[in-house]
Amino acid sequence: MNESQKNILEGLEKLYPDAGPELHFSNPYETLVATILAAQCTDARVNQVTPAVFRDFPDAKAMAQTTPEVLFPYVKSCGFKSKAVNIVNACKIIAEKYDGQVPSTLEELTALPGVGRKTANVVLAFSFGIPAIPVDTHVFRVANRLGLSDALTVEETEKQLMALIPRDKWSQAHHWMIYHGRRVCHSQRPDCEGCALKSWCKAAHQEQMINPKADAKKRAQARKARS
Ligand code: SF4
Repeated sequence: MNESQKNILEGLEKLYPDAGPELHFSNPYETLVATILAAQCTDARVNQVTPAVFRDFPDAKAMAQTTPEVLFPYVKSCGFKSKAVNIVNACKIIAEKYDGQVPSTLEELTALPGVGRKTANVVLAFSFGIPAIPVDTHVFRVANRLGLSDALTVEETEKQLMALIPRDKWSQAHHWMIYHGRRVCHSQRPDCEGCALKSWCKAAHQEQMINPKADAKKRAQARKARS
C-alpha cells in the first residue's frame, strides 16, 4: 500500500465512521431479497416495498409457495419482472435444497437465480459476518478514481481491494466507498473541489480518470498493445 492509498483509507474511515447498510433487513432471507431488488434501483425505493413483502412472505419457504405473478405487484416499482421471477425461483431452491435456510458460501449463493457475486458478497458480509467486498457501480467508480485499484472489471477491482485493504476492514471499506460515491464522488459530476480526499486522489489529477469505465477501455487497449 502506498502513502496516498494509506491516507485515502484513513480519510474515508474518518469521513464515514458510522457507514453501514442503507437497505433495511434483519436476516439472510431479507438481505437476499432486498439486495436482488436493489439492482438498478435506489435503496430508498426498495425500503418502501420490502415491509409488505416481508410481512406477507416472511421467509424463504413462504416465498417459495407463491408465484412471480403474485409477487410482482409488491415489487413493481423496483423495476423488472425478472426480479420477482428470480426471487421466487431462488426461494424454491432454498426451500427444497437448504430446508429454507439461505446458504452461506459464495458458490452456493451465486448458483441461485438472480444472485451475482455482488449480491452474494452482501449476504455473506452483512448476514453471516464473513468479510467481503461487494463491488457495485459506486465501489468500482470510487476505488478506480481514487487509485485504490486500477482494474478493468468489477471482479478485478474486488481482488485488488481485497489484496490492499486489511481483511477486518473489508465490509466497512465497501460502505465508505458507497457513501463517498453517493455523497461526493458522483458518477457524472464529482465534487472534486469539495472532496476531502482530493490531494491523494489519482483522478483529480488525471481528467480522463473521472470516467473509470471509459478509462478502463483505454487501459485495456494499452495492456493489449503492450502484450
Ligand atoms: S477528488 Fe474528485 S474524483 Fe477524486 S474521490 Fe474526490 S470527488 Fe472523486
